[in-house]
Amino acid sequence: MIHQRMFRLLTAVLLTHTATADEPEEKQFYHGKPVKALLVTGGCCHDYEFQTKALTMASEAKAPIQWTVVNQGGKGTKAEIDLYQDPNWAKGYDVVVHNECFAGTTNVEYIKKITDAHKQGAPAVVIHCAMHTYRKSKDTEWQNFLGVTTKHHDHQSHYPVTTVKKDHPIMKGFPANWKTPKDELYVILDTAKGMSPLATSVSEKDGKVHPVIWVNDFHGTRVFGTTFGHTSETFSDPVFLDLVTRGILWSAGKLEK
Ligand SMILES: [Zn+2]
Repeated sequence: MIHQRMFRLLTAVLLTHTATADEPEEKQFYHGKPVKALLVTGGCCHDYEFQTKALTMASEAKAPIQWTVVNQGGKGTKAEIDLYQDPNWAKGYDVVVHNECFAGTTNVEYIKKITDAHKQGAPAVVIHCAMHTYRKSKDTEWQNFLGVTTKHHDHQSHYPVTTVKKDHPIMKGFPANWKTPKDELYVILDTAKGMSPLATSVSEKDGKVHPVIWVNDFHGTRVFGTTFGHTSETFSDPVFLDLVTRGILWSAGKLEK
């Protein structure tokens, strides 16, 4: 009698296990079809090897993201990378993450190859020095794409971050009183028409309020951005990593909850 009951119990456990083995693993932020993400990184002034490892590992833990990483252009401030020579460079990806730093590159034709792919519908996430990349170019299409114009930053500090759009899906679970790890505050000089701030920080120098987390509508393409992300400490903070992961999923149209 006891044996029979044990056997039934064991069978039930095994059947349950078999039933779930074929299903995708339950992930906290999204557990549908895998998201194909391209990370473009490289350039000056930041530990992009560390940042890449931290972001890909943290995001894969919360959602089925399949990463392709392109780290080209070396560690200088100027480069025209091979990736963009192919006009179809963004094809096949659900989202492109820009975490690169080439402030001295000014070639308008080259920059157009990048913005054209996004104008044609490739969703994007833009992090930190992506906002200073191409800042010396005469053309402003990159800034229209980003949603913000910035040319310089304030000193490193622990900046308190105030959410201004609590109901936006990206900001769900974002702490009300988060202070950044040591990071730079980018001075925002102008914003694009389709840009909406999700959170702001205040300059310790002059008290001016700057958007630090936002979304942008670039010709109907979703763009998520944050100007934070200078240090390895920021890229080790779960609040920041969750924020960027949610931004990736939102841009790709996959944020379920
Ligand atoms: Zn920086």
